[in-house]
Amino acid sequence: MLFFNELSFWERKEYLNGIDFAIIGSGIVGMTTAIFLKKRLPSAKITILERGYLPTGASTKNAGFACFGSPTELFDDLQKIKEEQVWETFLLRYKGLQTLFSLVEKEKINYKPCASWDLIAENQDSVSTDFISYLNDKTRSLIGETSVYSEDKSILTYFGFQGFKTAFKNRLEGSIDTGKLITELYKNTVEFGIQTLFGINLESYTEAINEVNLNTNFGELKCAHLLVCTNGFANKFLQEDLQPARAQVMITKPIHDLKFEGTFHFDAGYYYFRNIENRILIGGGRNLNFEGETTEKFGKTDQIQDSILNLLKENILPTTVFEIDYSWSGIMGIGQEKSPIIKKVNNRVAFGVRMGGMGLAIGSEVGKKLANIF
Ligand SMILES: Cc1cc2nc3c(=O)[nH]c(=O)nc-3n(C[C@H](O)[C@H](O)[C@H](O)COP(=O)(O)OP(=O)(O)OC[C@H]3O[C@@H](n4cnc5c(N)ncnc54)[C@H](O)[C@@H]3O)c2cc1C
Repeated sequence: MLFFNELSFWERKEYLNGIDFAIIGSGIVGMTTAIFLKKRLPSAKITILERGYLPTGASTKNAGFACFGSPTELFDDLQKIKEEQVWETFLLRYKGLQTLFSLVEKEKINYKPCASWDLIAENQDSVSTDFISYLNDKTRSLIGETSVYSEDKSILTYFGFQGFKTAFKNRLEGSIDTGKLITELYKNTVEFGIQTLFGINLESYTEAINEVNLNTNFGELKCAHLLVCTNGFANKFLQEDLQPARAQVMITKPIHDLKFEGTFHFDAGYYYFRNIENRILIGGGRNLNFEGETTEKFGKTDQIQDSILNLLKENILPTTVFEIDYSWSGIMGIGQEKSPIIKKVNNRVAFGVRMGGMGLAIGSEVGKKLANIF
């Protein structure tokens, strides 16, 4: 292990000296911030510092839903959050997807405009037709699209699901290949001349008159501006309504003759599943133990893994033999409020964090805004 003060003249000149913007975190937000900054300030030296050998939060671990709002989740949000704020966040997610597609070609990230369905269990309250009309009125006025939401019971028998009484379709949602997205964004950063140093953990920072001093696991580093894009891991630097939230996911082995294609939400967005070719990726169950899942530690619990498996066996694939291949977890950043925090804390330091459960959608719009903050 070589500390910064043991590096050569060339290494210091090329990688460490004269950093105009240090961006912490190489997830969607960190990379899109760097790209938009470089577009705005082509001669700036921009360096991303990432603690992992890969991005190690949520951006390479998520379910790949290109989504911006399902009826039961929006209904749930409207009970807890001000109406204006719910629609502001909705719009940010919708715009975020368009921003993302302006950076990466849809074909390269395997985007599928497959639609999504919000499934309502037999023992759950459904949303009313008036609420669906309200959603369609709102979406028409905000994004200019008509009849985005509709009831679609036929999907239940068509795909062979059990235990659900109805489903609501969002015709504009889709899916992407999460791994390909991160690879494409990374390629973009390299083409723009943005450096990423992997394995560097920011431990603390102090602001001086003309610079920011970064204290890392390899020693001290200086930059003119610091942009922190560490989402669920940012609460050690920022005292705000922000907590880490673990999400657990599993994937089946390939299933012969898998009947369905699409993205599906259930239980106000707390569960979600989709096909990836002939496998099913399924996650959720954080609502079974909010306290236990408010953690920045990766890991799995029997309680949540069992609940996901049960949903798969009883409701999604009730007549199909399948095997689980493996499971994993990722860490999101959430708060009481669902909107992201895009905030300048002083003249040289800013944060773009709290992406919630739809950071794939909202992330690049946050990157775009953060890139204009100084
Ligand atoms: C299981 C799961 C499923 C999801 N499914 C979806 C979905 O289908 N659709 C959707 O829109 N969203 C989904 N999300 C949410 C989405 O993935 C996130 O909101 C988004 O990836 C957040 O991006 P980010 O760049 O803000 O954070 P991250 O991707 O977490 O990136 C932060 C980076 O900062 C690094 N870091 C942290 N601390 C430090 C430090 N001190 N020094 C250096 N580096 C540091 C981390 O290693 C990490 O790479 C899901 C999330 C999870 C966990």
